[in-house]
Amino acid sequence: MSDNPQRSMNAGRGPIEVPRSRGRVAVIPGDGIGKEVIPEALKVMRAAAGAGGRELFIKEFDWGADRYLRDGTTLPADAPDMFRREFDAILLGALGDPRTPENRHGADILMGLRFKLDLYVNLRPCVLFDRRLTPLNERTEEDIHFVVLRENTEGLYVGMGGFFKKGTADEIAIQEDVNTRKGVERIIRYAFEYARRQGFTRVCMSDKSNALAFGHDLWQRVFAEVQSEYSAIEARHLYIDNLLMQMLRDPSQFQVIVTCNLFGDIASDLGAGLIGGLGLAPSGNIHPGSVSLFEPVHGSAPDLAGKNLANPMGAALASAMLFDSLGWTSEARMIESAVRAAIREGKTTRDLGGSLGTLEMGEWLANRVVKA
Ligand code: ATP
Repeated sequence: MSDNPQRSMNAGRGPIEVPRSRGRVAVIPGDGIGKEVIPEALKVMRAAAGAGGRELFIKEFDWGADRYLRDGTTLPADAPDMFRREFDAILLGALGDPRTPENRHGADILMGLRFKLDLYVNLRPCVLFDRRLTPLNERTEEDIHFVVLRENTEGLYVGMGGFFKKGTADEIAIQEDVNTRKGVERIIRYAFEYARRQGFTRVCMSDKSNALAFGHDLWQRVFAEVQSEYSAIEARHLYIDNLLMQMLRDPSQFQVIVTCNLFGDIASDLGAGLIGGLGLAPSGNIHPGSVSLFEPVHGSAPDLAGKNLANPMGAALASAMLFDSLGWTSEARMIESAVRAAIREGKTTRDLGGSLGTLEMGEWLANRVVKA
């Protein structure tokens, strides 16, 4: 497989956001395998920044289950302002721990940052690095190269609702689905702008407006309005059930998919499945032009934690997306190239069929970046 830049996570056509020159990165390793994959991603980032002559300033924050259980800290009140003031980007591992089943700290930290930093774009690239990794027979690297843009601050995830007569036979549970004109418009507009900037020609919006006649009617109307401003881009609509079926049947149809918070969560995990699984999937939580947060798609995977089994590639690729957000595109491509080389040469962790541990994988990638 070649290292054709056209097939990079960012399509090789330029930075995801406004280029920045500084590299002040806040790092929250978090819990479980987050604490194992992030140190490896940092090795790879340092190697790429060094090779590119960039100055990287890293500051780690120990927020996670251990800290929460020790002193109750989740997300300190001044954290969002501090990140905006003092950092250019945030790298997060994963949050979640069997000792805190209600995951209060995880929700406070991740949802807190998403909402308080207004990270309204959840960007998940689905790029197949090697045809051997997809469960779809006969699909190649050419066929699977799209991004899912998930609305990240509204929908069913705002936490509005409640119980009535909880725990009784008459219980009622209500979960509100919030769709605002501003929120829907900015993510749809971002999708068209992203397509234009990255040289994509197709945007597909997915909703369930045939059943959700109010919230998703708004999505329909906004999509019709915004698409009329982008005549060079083909705009298509699919109901979410059809979208998921089409992603499996023929993923080459898609370049940019934009959808609401819940459907984006589901569609992007299907996308991760198409490219080799959770160990390989990165994501960005983005507010254009402001401090944004990058993380591997996977969670804390308690079943793997402490065993040196987790694949750090998702975290390394998340750091490549972070570099893109700083405008450090050649350093980002160095990281992607190292991941491609590892897959091509069979130097992988067990989830991808190899025999390397988390540590060895991180070292391999960092060495590869330096040698390239
Ligand atoms: P969350 O609710 O936070 O998404 P989860 O437990 O549902 O967490 P993950 O933690 O993402 O989901 O993991 C699901 C499974 O996928 C894990 O049990 C593990 O087997 C596999 N997995 C996840 N991440 C990795 C990784 N980096 N390397 C290898 N396998 C992984």
